[in-house]
Amino acid sequence: MTPTITLAKGDITRESADAIVNAANSSLLGGGGVDGAIHRRGGPAILEECRKLRASQYGKGLSTGRAVATTAGDLDARFVIHTVGPVWSATEDRSELLASCYRESLRVADELGARTVAFPAVSTGIYGWPIDDGARIAVETVRAADTAVEEVRFVLFDERAYEAFAAQTR
Ligand code: ADP
Repeated sequence: MTPTITLAKGDITRESADAIVNAANSSLLGGGGVDGAIHRRGGPAILEECRKLRASQYGKGLSTGRAVATTAGDLDARFVIHTVGPVWSATEDRSELLASCYRESLRVADELGARTVAFPAVSTGIYGWPIDDGARIAVETVRAADTAVEEVRFVLFDERAYEAFAAQTR
């Protein structure tokens, strides 16, 4: 099945989806942007699970394009799915890695039994991916996904990002 795509404006940490996706970095130990916001609002339980994952399965960190789930701590969501987006490159096409973030996150959501999943615009902040292209890859990848997730909600932090996703879904 293909999920229904909806758009929302605002802070993803306020969403009450079954799972929210974090644009993490490979360390899984926190960062800026949406990552910082999730850990701040979700409390220490998320970081604690991330540390355990590092110690058990991901000694070298989570690879770009992969995804892994933890508790959502104090957030309304049940799970946080951490995915590592590629850093934008003007010389190398890393689109497949960005698409992989969405695919892998949905695969993990299926494993969790999550039916509603909220995504930020992965890689389009600190990692510098142009928002129009990031929106195109996000929407195309979700549209092509075979998943039991019923709703994918893209939660866009600013007007510019919202417009970029709206243009892809019109
Ligand atoms: P990356 O390192 O993958 O670029 P960022 O967190 O810097 O990750 O940015 C990814 C996107 O998330 C950007 O479009 C940014 O504006 C947005 N963003 C930042 N904070 C939040 C938040 N609290 N909720 C939703 N989106 C956010």
